[in-house]
Amino acid sequence: MKSHHYVGRFAPSPTGPLHIGSLLTAVASYVDAKSHNGKWLLRMEDIDPPREMSGAADSILQTLEHYGLRWDGDVLFQSRQHSRYEAAVQQLLASGKAFYCTCSRSQILAASGSSSYPGTCRQRHQPPDQPFAIRLQVQDREIHFEDGLQRYQRCNLQQQGGDFVIKRKEGLYAYHLAVVLDDALQGVTHVVRGSDLLDATFCHWYLQDVLELPHPQYAHLPVIVNAEGQKLSKQTFAEPVPLADPGPYLLYCLQALGQSPPDSLRGASAAAILEWSCEHWQMQRVPHQRCIPQQTA
Ligand code: GLU
Ligand code: ZN
Repeated sequence: MKSHHYVGRFAPSPTGPLHIGSLLTAVASYVDAKSHNGKWLLRMEDIDPPREMSGAADSILQTLEHYGLRWDGDVLFQSRQHSRYEAAVQQLLASGKAFYCTCSRSQILAASGSSSYPGTCRQRHQPPDQPFAIRLQVQDREIHFEDGLQRYQRCNLQQQGGDFVIKRKEGLYAYHLAVVLDDALQGVTHVVRGSDLLDATFCHWYLQDVLELPHPQYAHLPVIVNAEGQKLSKQTFAEPVPLADPGPYLLYCLQALGQSPPDSLRGASAAAILEWSCEHWQMQRVPHQRCIPQQTA
């Protein structure tokens, strides 16, 4: 018997309310999971308080529910996972794979001529007296993976970025570390997210190797960009999706994702639109480009 095992997730950062770009990611990851009889988990990536907006986490959850995007199980809040992140940092330090780094941005730029980390502090295995970040040492090797939408991807991290930060100078845990640990903890098998995170995936892949964690399958969706070609975000004043009538917004997302919802779904409820979507979802019809302009419909 063919058994399907699919665990997907949506992992918003509560930096502002849900906008059409984040709704698109939510819809695609939800429908891909549900069309595989999978689970769809929700993780609130609240590990960067200076960037967060108060009330945004609640607003995101409320909007998802209003749009019929019901998650399985409890929401995992990253702000409550610090001890797990710290344990991984300590493990990486103890094994000599991570090190203490006191470099400033300008020192890195001066030493390398780029923002790629030149390896300056690799021998620092004791905590220094001055403020420090913790970096993971990367090897000089190529990482490659097959993306479900963006096809074959490869990169040598040592040449592109170098040893990367896993804990920041201010004491905050890096997104790369948290996302990898939590995808593993939650048993995530499929990551469907925006292509703005395609390059970050090399760091995730590398960390999964070092921590001996399984690699999920990745599919990076096109991101919706505004007329200036910028990704929609709080910084580019993206409007929150309204709580009024979810139908037109869901249909817009499906069209942008290359699906062809029939006219008969106009005026239908969110539940009816999502049900159609799960029955007719074809991932291979999602545009393979990295960006799509906001007004395609
Ligand atoms: N929290 C990230 C964001 O909102 C997404 C992380 C992920 O899907 O891996 O951009
Ligand atoms: Zn350094």
